[in-house]
Formats: sequence, C-alpha cells, structure tokens
Amino acid sequence: MSCEHLICARCAGPVVEGHCTTCRAARAEVHHPGTFGVSPVLIGALLIALTLLIALKLGLQ
Ligand SMILES: [Zn+2]
Repeated sequence: MSCEHLICARCAGPVVEGHCTTCRAARAEVHHPGTFGVSPVLIGALLIALTLLIALKLGLQ
C-alpha cells in the first residue's frame, strides 16, 4: 500500500509530503507498520522491567 495519492484531511496536502503531524503519523504507519507488530512503547517497557530485574538481582547478592 502506498500513500502517494492520499490527501490529508487536516492540512489538505499530500500525505507523502508530511506537512503536518497527521500526515507524518499516517505516512509512518503506512511505511513502517511497527516491528513485528510490537509497539516501541512495549519494547521500552520490557527493557525497563528487565533492567529493574537485573538491578534487583545484583542488589540481593
Ligand atoms: Zn496533513
């Protein structure tokens, strides 16, 4: 799927040119639909949880 011919409802410009945040969000979603369906927020949360777990483990030794 391509966003070349999509027109933004917010700025009325071509989505592909990314004039406003809505354009850029739509364009990013079309071209980069997440990493294997996992959101970056979830990956960040998992990394923080893992870091806390390691810190706790080290603290208990
Ligand atoms: Zn726009």
